[in-house]
Amino acid sequence: MKLYNHTKYPDAVLESLLVKAGKAVGARTTGVVVIVNQGRQFGASIPGCAYRATSVRPNLRMKRDQNYLINIRWVKTDGGYFTIVAPHWNRPALEAVQNFYATAVHEWGHIKDFQRKDLPEWSRRDSSGRRPRWEDRPEEIRANEYRDSARSQGKGENGSYAYEEIVGLALALEERKESK
Ligand SMILES: [Zn+2]
Repeated sequence: MKLYNHTKYPDAVLESLLVKAGKAVGARTTGVVVIVNQGRQFGASIPGCAYRATSVRPNLRMKRDQNYLINIRWVKTDGGYFTIVAPHWNRPALEAVQNFYATAVHEWGHIKDFQRKDLPEWSRRDSSGRRPRWEDRPEEIRANEYRDSARSQGKGENGSYAYEEIVGLALALEERKESK
């Protein structure tokens, strides 16, 4: 996994949790790009989004920064990439991290789909030419099924499988709260 960490959480703590989430659904984690962004404190931000792509510009979000030009470079991905919003410190730490982990498992479900060769393209339009509602899209239903199946094997956010990694990130979150 290639981590692009746009937050103040330690790379190692994020990485071990995210890799664990990928393995929970049986995705191949090597070479997959994961971009972790700091979310906005208020207002809606999408918790995560997966893309089928073979390359990505993980630093493109820095476009308002003076480093814009030097930071744009293409990075190859092996089987897609996803972005995810870091757990926020205005929520109880453990709950925030459990939610982050569950989102990561769902996004890895999409990556697992990209890695499969036996599935049709996503989100084919229906007979009226419209895409189905978000929650009715086959790829969303499948990603949730992967997540539910991980849960039923004790690999969900409440299971013992990723307990250590979840607690590790929750502690990092508490430390950030205290240093504010
Ligand atoms: Zn999804």
